[in-house]
Parts: sequence; C-alpha cells; structure tokens
Amino acid sequence: MRFAWGHGRRFNSYVDHMRGIYGNRIQKLAIDAGFTCPNRDGTKGRGGCTFCLNEAFNPSYCNPAKGVRQQIAEGIEFHRKRYKKACNYLAYFQAYSNTYAPVSRLMSLFHEALSVEGVVGIVVATRPDCVDDEKLDLFKSLSDHHYVMIEYGIESVYDKTLERVNRGHSFEDAAKAVRMAAGKGIRTGGHMIFGLPGETRHEMLQSAGIVSELPLTSIKFHQLQLFKGTAMEQEYLRNPLDFHLFTMEDYLEFVADYVELLNPEFVIERIAGETPPRYDRLSSWGPRYDAILMKFEKVLEERNSWQGKRFVPKL
Ligand code: SF4
Repeated sequence: MRFAWGHGRRFNSYVDHMRGIYGNRIQKLAIDAGFTCPNRDGTKGRGGCTFCLNEAFNPSYCNPAKGVRQQIAEGIEFHRKRYKKACNYLAYFQAYSNTYAPVSRLMSLFHEALSVEGVVGIVVATRPDCVDDEKLDLFKSLSDHHYVMIEYGIESVYDKTLERVNRGHSFEDAAKAVRMAAGKGIRTGGHMIFGLPGETRHEMLQSAGIVSELPLTSIKFHQLQLFKGTAMEQEYLRNPLDFHLFTMEDYLEFVADYVELLNPEFVIERIAGETPPRYDRLSSWGPRYDAILMKFEKVLEERNSWQGKRFVPKL
C-alpha cells in the first residue's frame, strides 16, 4: 500500500521525504553558533521558558568557540558510526534563538555553513518573534540555491499554556510568523510539546486541527521532558497532579491519535524527544529514538492507522 506521500510508511516521514529529494539519507548536524534568546536576556523576559535546558540536546561536540566549520566537521564524525549511509548534511542551527542577531551576522554564519563540502542546506531554529522581513528575505535568497528551512518553536496553540510556561509570545505570534515565512516561499517547520502543564489530552488532540491549518512544511513533536534544574522540574515537584507525564506506551497511542487528525501534507520530522538520562530523572523512558519510532510504526500498523486518516480539511 502506498500513501499520498508516495511510500508505504504510515506517516509522511522526513527521512523518506529527504531521500526523495537527494536520493540518500541526509544527516542533520547540530550547531551552537553562540546565540542567546530574548526570553533570557531581558528583552522579552528573564529565565526563559520554564522547560528549557539547551545543554540537554546539544551534542558534545557543539561549542560556539569552535566556530561553524569545525562543529560541522566534528558533527560528521560524531554521526558516522550511527548513520554510515549519510553523505549529505544539513547544518542545524539549533541552540537558543538562531535569528536573534543582525542580518549581517546571520548571513556570515549561514554562508560559512553552506560553503562546507557535503552541506546541502541549513535548518534554523528560532522563536516566532525573532524574525522580520529583512531576515526572511535572507532565507528566501538562500532558498533559491540550497535547502533552507526555518523552524519555529510553536509548542502549544493555547495562550494559557504559553503564559504558564513563560514563553513570551502568543499562538497568534507563531501563526503569523509561519504565514510570513511560508508566504515568501520558505520551507517552514513547527515544533510542538505534548504534556505541558494544564493541558488536557482532549485539548492536545484538538490542537492537531488548529496546527493543520498553518502553511507548515514539516512538524516535530516532543513529549514533555522535565530537565534537572529547570523551573518546570520545580513546578512538577510542587504540583505533580497538574502534569500528565506520558508513559512511552500511552504517548505512542496519543501520537497515533494526533497523527490521524493531522494534515497529511506535513512532513513529520520527529515524534518524540531523546535526551541523555543524566538530564532527566523524572520523565525519561530509556529507549533510543530509533526504537521508539519502530514501536510507533507498529502501533499505527496494529490500528490500521495513518497520518491524516481522520483529517478534515477546512474549506
Ligand atoms: S525561546 Fe527557546 S531558547 Fe529561549 S528560553 Fe524558550 S526554549 Fe529556551
């Protein structure tokens, strides 16, 4: 059976999408280019989002002092053992808010990454309130010759949740930023977290329909992870009943429900987070991401389910 996205996997998988463009596996290489974040330096807020701990997902080779080129070289070595078949790469500006700088600095960093042999594009993670026309025009001009994606942290469609986690922007801010980038023809990704405090399962599932109306290219999901030392970990220890921490089995059933409601045109990049256990003592599941993904695909198969099975497009 082949689905609308042209292969037999039951969701519109990013790995297969990229293989369709480049003919082989594309490996993302995380880079820490030394940005900060307006929700930390006082411009928007202090202390950051209550769940945020960038160290938890920064690979060991990431260090802004090394510069972009060296991090890419070390990133290729880092991933070589696990993904032997990758020979093309995307430089992933991941840590903090990677458009929070003047356009001249962004241009220099992105050009440096794109000049490295084997790097076919860039993915740039940022906050929805850290873009403007000038920055998006830079993305657009780079898109003419490279794979370029801007990836926004949306996290939730509910302002009550965004306020509670000290996000410092509304869902409408995120929707506007997505529309601005997509309107210029830039590939646009979104990141969502499932299990944020105060959100019910019903609300999270309802958000699939809301997100599906955005002009996104791709989407990734993470279960809420409680990182050591964060404000959210403290909040959980004070009020554990306000949280729904998923077990892995429950989460995979939930994501299957969510994905059934999701726009089938969205490429799904990730369905769960994976963090070294030393950062997460309360919500860690243990298995590596590849094993979690295999279990998820088994859930879809057992339910005879697929992405968009219950998606209702708005007319
Ligand atoms: S916007 Fe991103 S980098 Fe800034 S505090 Fe929130 S999660 Fe952390």
